[in-house]
Amino acid sequence: MYNKKEHRVRRGSAPEWFQCTHCGQPVVPETYGTEHRNHCPWCLWSRHLDDEPGDRAADCGGGMEPIAVWVRQGGEWAIVHRCKRCGVLHSNRIAGDDNEILLLSFALRPLSQPAFPLDRLHPSEPPSQKEA
Ligand SMILES: [Zn+2]
Ligand SMILES: [Zn+2]
Repeated sequence: MYNKKEHRVRRGSAPEWFQCTHCGQPVVPETYGTEHRNHCPWCLWSRHLDDEPGDRAADCGGGMEPIAVWVRQGGEWAIVHRCKRCGVLHSNRIAGDDNEILLLSFALRPLSQPAFPLDRLHPSEPPSQKEA
């Protein structure tokens, strides 16, 4: 493995906007709740630019698809992104102006597509205990 960190540029300078790879909207990194927003508030797609949040050390540049939300300790929501090019998974804080409907749809997706039949969820007798 050669060192890719030399691609790191201008750390500490004003973050630059980028264009969303998915919907084409301009995305500004500094926003409510974070200075390292790396995903689009409209469609929630990201780009694989960072190894650590804000470091811009990755040179993959692939589009990162939002695949899930999860709740961090303390109740903060985060988005799980998966890079379409290299497959890496990243977890990113949500920002104050992220699309709430899309966030909810990711949170509800497992519930709307359960991996088991919901009609088995009716209250049922506890499994009978066989006495030895
Ligand atoms: Zn977008
Ligand atoms: Zn990647």
